[in-house]
Amino acid sequence: MKIDKIIKSKRKTLAVQITNDARLVVRAPRSMPDFLIKMLLRKRRAWIQKKQEIMREKIINTKTKQFIQGEKFLYLGESYKLKIITTTIARSMLKLDKKGQQFLLAISLNYDPEHAHAIFLKLYKKLAREVISLSVQAYAIQHNFLYNKIRITSALSRWGSCSSKGNLSFTWRLIMAPQEVIDYVILHELAHLKEQNHSKNFWSLVEKICPLYKIRKKWLKDNGHKLDLYFYFC
Ligand SMILES: [Zn+2]
Repeated sequence: MKIDKIIKSKRKTLAVQITNDARLVVRAPRSMPDFLIKMLLRKRRAWIQKKQEIMREKIINTKTKQFIQGEKFLYLGESYKLKIITTTIARSMLKLDKKGQQFLLAISLNYDPEHAHAIFLKLYKKLAREVISLSVQAYAIQHNFLYNKIRITSALSRWGSCSSKGNLSFTWRLIMAPQEVIDYVILHELAHLKEQNHSKNFWSLVEKICPLYKIRKKWLKDNGHKLDLYFYFC
């Protein structure tokens, strides 16, 4: 049994916690020796393993897409249901129906979910380019920023970046976030055109052009993991 973290403090008893990402965190009294901690944990092994299993299943269920009828997909912070129509067309097609708040997927007879994943990715990237480009242009004019090019990437670890040549990059995953969160990331990267580091000056410039930036930043920290399109090939 792997202990991911032990926190020792003035507490008197041992406490076990399974985090949202299925990690095992143990809180123990400072004076408790490691062998005793391990012994007490062994007694609770069954409970710990069951809890971790439930948590892992939950993670897979909430993150993995199956591309089935009625499944929900994010667009600008809102859930859109997937509607699948079987047709005789040669190639499957995906469309965003904003009015009906749904994604419409017309599938061909030899359709497979792996294909749907690729189609979704393509559409999300296209939508991201449209929405992000428009906002970048508008904010650049409004706040007098000069940028070079906009790139849409598949970056996993960062939402956006700004090169010394003035090229702005944004991950397509942002298209799943609410518009005001996308706007924060855009304003953050635009601010880097004037201040290349994360200095005090940088953050005061961000605050000036995006007064609620702290709330947006926190939203990304809390919800960023939901902005993805997971699919397990089996
Ligand atoms: Zn930055």
